[in-house]
Amino acid sequence: MKPFLTRLFRLISSFPRGHLLATVALFGLLSAAVILPTSDATPTAQPAVVALSLPRPASREADPEQAGTPAASPEAVAEEPAIDWREITVSPGDTLSRLLQAQGVSPGEVHRLVTADKRLAALTNIRPGDVLRVALNDDNTLAALEHQVSRIKSLHAERTEDGWSVREEEREYERQVRYAQAEISDSLFLAAQRAGMTDNLIMQLVNIFAWDIDFVLDIRQGDSFQVLYEELFLDGEQVGTGNILMAEFNNRDRKLTAFRYETQEGSTEFLDIAGNSLRREFIRTPVEFARISSRFNPNRRHPVLNTIRAHRGVDYAAPTGTPIRATGDGRVEFAGVRGGYGNVVIIRHGQQYSTLYAHMNSFARGIRSGVRVRQGQTIGTVGMTGLATGPHLHYEFLVNGVHRDPLTVKLPKARGIADNERRDFLVYANRLRNQMALHAEAFTLAQNF
Ligand SMILES: [Zn+2]
Repeated sequence: MKPFLTRLFRLISSFPRGHLLATVALFGLLSAAVILPTSDATPTAQPAVVALSLPRPASREADPEQAGTPAASPEAVAEEPAIDWREITVSPGDTLSRLLQAQGVSPGEVHRLVTADKRLAALTNIRPGDVLRVALNDDNTLAALEHQVSRIKSLHAERTEDGWSVREEEREYERQVRYAQAEISDSLFLAAQRAGMTDNLIMQLVNIFAWDIDFVLDIRQGDSFQVLYEELFLDGEQVGTGNILMAEFNNRDRKLTAFRYETQEGSTEFLDIAGNSLRREFIRTPVEFARISSRFNPNRRHPVLNTIRAHRGVDYAAPTGTPIRATGDGRVEFAGVRGGYGNVVIIRHGQQYSTLYAHMNSFARGIRSGVRVRQGQTIGTVGMTGLATGPHLHYEFLVNGVHRDPLTVKLPKARGIADNERRDFLVYANRLRNQMALHAEAFTLAQNF
């Protein structure tokens, strides 16, 4: 039964606006479930007429004129106690409490709602323009509530015998693959813009190849690139651009190719055609836009202690509060106060490597020993706790327990495709490559007409 319901939910939510023609009562659904073979993944015979009539109103995909009325077909209404759904649009200055009290809900009831579940607590952050839908029982207690969080996200809460049952729904974008190519005559940015790429896509392109191309120093006139990327649609309307799926960059004599690939583990990597990662296991600098104020030096006079003491890291001067990024994926080994380091985070990256971040002003939320962090994730902010003369980050890089100069240590390449995924990846990459070749050909033809 459960897989069927899941499929049904998916089916319903995948239908475009206006296609939900009628609603069938719960018993109708149950009998339909018995009739339909549960092994068949895609019931094709007019599934649009099947919908849940749980205390869930005309869904967002339904005909807008029916919004607010409980069930579309009269038969269904007869089987179902009518639930009074009200739609409330949040105005400036409104609070959840005030809005619900205006509907007759008691302050105690509102309090119980927002303290019942973390996701419901977020309801206290509603903003002007948000739409809330509430269903009340006869005694003005809440029966159900929906919040359209964004164009694709919504929150659904239903009161059950054991309290509130909460679920979040996210609509899927429809995605279309697009192609762009350009030759650089002035700057990468202008060339990409002329090719119709958004700032977001340009940033993605730069990030994909940032490990191999210095976009300030390496770019030459005549360099060129090609990309396959996604355009996102909701209800047939383009609402943005998605991911770059494949990119090729001709930089001087080099040709770099990258395929976006989601691994079975669920992480996203950019790989070359051989399945090697384009990424390195570490980024060089943990603070963006910072000045190096002291280098790695085994014989330095310590500025506070005024004794010869090795400086076993690099100092980055930056204003208090500047975000500090984990330079690699890993696990927090320590987060707390440790002597002259002040607030310090130590991250272990596999067997060989660890990194250390000292004098921090604050730790990012959730950073404590044992938690996993991703490369680039903010772990805290620059400060001057411990022995420090001004706000800066003291950063150490250790290989097998030995301090190395973070500015010159050879950074290992990130792990490429796992052996058991290589076949899948190659099939996928070749499909993208063919797709790009077709687009490139069409582009050239169009140019010549
Ligand atoms: Zn230092």
